[in-house]
Amino acid sequence: MKEGWEAIIGMEIHAQLATETKIFCGCATSFGDEPNANTCPVCLGLPGALPVLNEKVVEYGAKAALALGLNINEQSIFSRKNYFYPDLPKGYQISQYDKPFSSDGELVIMTAERDEHGRAKDFKPMTIRIERMHLEEDAGKNVHEGLPETDKYSYVDLNRAGTPLGEIVTKADFRSSWQAYDYVNHVRRALQWVGASDADMEKGNLRCEANVSVRKVGEEKFRNKVELKNLNSVRFMQKAIEYEIERQIAAHEAGEGVSQETRLWDEKNNKTRVMRSKEDAHDYRYFPEPDLQPLVVSKEFIETMKAQMPELPDAMRDRFMAEYNLSFDDASQIIGDKDIAAFYETAAQASGNPRTSANLMLSEFVRELNNSGKRANESLLTAESFAEIVKTLDEGKINNNQAKEIIVESFNTGKSPADVIREKGFEQVSDAGAIEKIVDEIIKNNENQVNAYRGGNEKLFGFFVGQVMKASQGKANPKVVNEILKSKL
Ligand code: ZN
Ligand code: MN
Repeated sequence: MKEGWEAIIGMEIHAQLATETKIFCGCATSFGDEPNANTCPVCLGLPGALPVLNEKVVEYGAKAALALGLNINEQSIFSRKNYFYPDLPKGYQISQYDKPFSSDGELVIMTAERDEHGRAKDFKPMTIRIERMHLEEDAGKNVHEGLPETDKYSYVDLNRAGTPLGEIVTKADFRSSWQAYDYVNHVRRALQWVGASDADMEKGNLRCEANVSVRKVGEEKFRNKVELKNLNSVRFMQKAIEYEIERQIAAHEAGEGVSQETRLWDEKNNKTRVMRSKEDAHDYRYFPEPDLQPLVVSKEFIETMKAQMPELPDAMRDRFMAEYNLSFDDASQIIGDKDIAAFYETAAQASGNPRTSANLMLSEFVRELNNSGKRANESLLTAESFAEIVKTLDEGKINNNQAKEIIVESFNTGKSPADVIREKGFEQVSDAGAIEKIVDEIIKNNENQVNAYRGGNEKLFGFFVGQVMKASQGKANPKVVNEILKSKL
């Protein structure tokens, strides 16, 4: 960022809650079905149809709120947010306005700036104030056929209309694009972790928007802000914010000013462009939804939800660092995915070697997962078998490269490590008697070298080790070979 300027960024995330049915009717939330297959009078907005709140929305909403450090309000009110759009047949969206489901959150995230290669420098904790997470319904989808010039038809698909969303709004606490990036990743992981949302940006069930403005350092007042939409990945979002910060600084310095508007990220041209000028809240004419009672959640319900919360990813990372002596980077990678974290914990405990378990997991195992597109809990190699490989390695029966080969083979075939070791002939010979025989043979057949070694040419020791390994076809345990050679020579 240019010297003397600072960026002010606030984030809004719409997270689709993981219910099987919609927020105010019994229609399925599954996508990919025939257009308008999952609709009924309620989500089509037909006159006289009445909404009924889905209980699961409250449960997932509560888990999401708790995972983000928000306070759940004992009473919240649904409101109508009025606007016209073809994908919103009622002419209003049922949302929440002045009395949201949850509010006043504080969330500690780990964040770091990145160098020009995208490498993180030094992760530090940062507290983000989350203003609110309210519950609302999603709108449908407009589908346009062809390019604007040739466009003959537009369609409306209401399968998505009425899908439950949690809208998570922060204070404008971010000062850099990487802070926003780390925040969204934190939220995504936390929501997946507690099962509140699949939080998959590619599938559109996590959508984020950034409000960006800049000002001179020391300035108290805010300048006009721009809302960035259409951010299809966390990386695009980061790039869009970065671009927008530079664009606004340049515009202010050129004396052009920045207009309050919504801009889109154009990923082909790597820049933002105008979508529309921004509405203010009063344009929506919010008023309480007369067809729904206030949403009241009891203290007991909140306590029940709290009791069901799993250990959250950041707490698990800190515990892995303390209990298993992992570095911040390794522990962060392991808790990047809930199933990998569970796999690791089982393997670390069963093998009794958390360090080696982490090394082998983060190299071989994670690579195999990525190559196969599988999740850790779908792996044919179980965590218990993985631990067996680590143990066998620790006992000196196989070497590191062999351990890696076994992981790959077991992962892809489901064969037990013991079978792979047998098939590949990996079992090392540690039997001193057998190795002794080979050593005697080598000493007998290499009289000149033996004399030279005994005469002081210690470099020749490597020669003897090599001969023994060769004679044993690489299976002799190097440690035992060394010991026996030393005593015999
Ligand atoms: Zn419906
Ligand atoms: Mn919204």
